[in-house]
Amino acid sequence: MTDRVSASASTYPPRASGDSGILRCSSLFDPRQGKLLADVSVEIEGGRVVGVTADTAATDCTKSSGWQISVGSDCTVIPGLIECHNHLQLCPSRVADPREDWLRSSDRALLERMLCNSAKALHAGITTIRDCGAGRHLDTLFLRRIREAGLIAPRVLFAGLPIMAREGHLAWMGREVSGPADAAAAVREQHEGGADFIKVTASGGMISGAAGIRSLFLSKEELRSLADQAHELGMRITAHAHSTEAIEAVAIAGFDMIEHCCWLGRDGLRYKKDVARLIADSGIVVVPTNAAFYPHGRTKLQWQALLGSQVERIGIVAEMLATGIGMVTGADDQEFNTVAHEAALLVEAGLDPVDALRAATLWAAKALGVEQDCGSVEPGKVADIVVVRGNPLVAVEALREVVAVVAQGHVVRQIEETANRTEKW
Ligand SMILES: [Zn+2]
Repeated sequence: MTDRVSASASTYPPRASGDSGILRCSSLFDPRQGKLLADVSVEIEGGRVVGVTADTAATDCTKSSGWQISVGSDCTVIPGLIECHNHLQLCPSRVADPREDWLRSSDRALLERMLCNSAKALHAGITTIRDCGAGRHLDTLFLRRIREAGLIAPRVLFAGLPIMAREGHLAWMGREVSGPADAAAAVREQHEGGADFIKVTASGGMISGAAGIRSLFLSKEELRSLADQAHELGMRITAHAHSTEAIEAVAIAGFDMIEHCCWLGRDGLRYKKDVARLIADSGIVVVPTNAAFYPHGRTKLQWQALLGSQVERIGIVAEMLATGIGMVTGADDQEFNTVAHEAALLVEAGLDPVDALRAATLWAAKALGVEQDCGSVEPGKVADIVVVRGNPLVAVEALREVVAVVAQGHVVRQIEETANRTEKW
């Protein structure tokens, strides 16, 4: 199946605009203040924001030699969206079995898919992706291809090979470890291979057949060794953890983030308040990936059998939020257009829309350690900017209505009628 994927570098626009320009708008979301700034002009030079100033009739746009965009008052300008959990190499589980598909696919087909998925993400306003596990060392090839072809792609943070116990979740694409010394060696290997962070699978997972999804696969000593080695190398470390046992163990071991965080006990759900408190107090950020659990298609019923209804799952997420656990958006559904859905599910769990938007921008950038470049539109940062129709602070669903995308200062998508180059200039 996968070998038929024909996407290629041509999925990207053949030529993006230059990386300097001026964007004028009547509302810009500022995640620091948590509010919309009215009538501003964003000046971009060499791919970075150099000024965010009050836009007046006297604003001199002639000084910009680059592109000029005037955003209609029916639209809101926001920082580029951040997808904190996805896999560029995998196909959506609603379509096929991602494991089978991956095993059958050639390296070339997977590389093509990585390009295709990243282009799709960019189109949806996702300018930063954290890839939580890519096999066969194709991450390096992907980055080289992007560089050599001069493509304007989303920034991708790669985990390199995911790390797991022998025959653990994602072992078919990852690095299996046995014992604390081997665990530390696996972290060093990813670091040497250029990984941006470390991803560990601490419990079983659905696309590996759900075996061990309710248990813990690694020993406490192995987990401690993984976390210590990652931190020694200045890397952040996150754990895929569906079971309560795994959640508790990685929180104690000092991991920085937890993926999914489903609280699966030996039979049924087992939410432990003291562990939730530990996660909140330790500043461990959770990526709940709710969008992956209640989509449509193949795995929906399997997830329902484990997690209960969407209402029940959202109820647990609400409890975590009320405990003060920080959350960021990550869909893990291999659709690459569902940050909006994930943000909407966080709002359903009680998060204020302002905070849901922060979870998809500035908070996500902080959690990934890229806030010096991403997460907000302000001088000094990379110009990753999205225009959506509507006001996402009123209705977060507006995040689905992407009408323009600026990535690293280049206009990579623009729907003319809503964010048009005006004649005035
Ligand atoms: Zn995942």
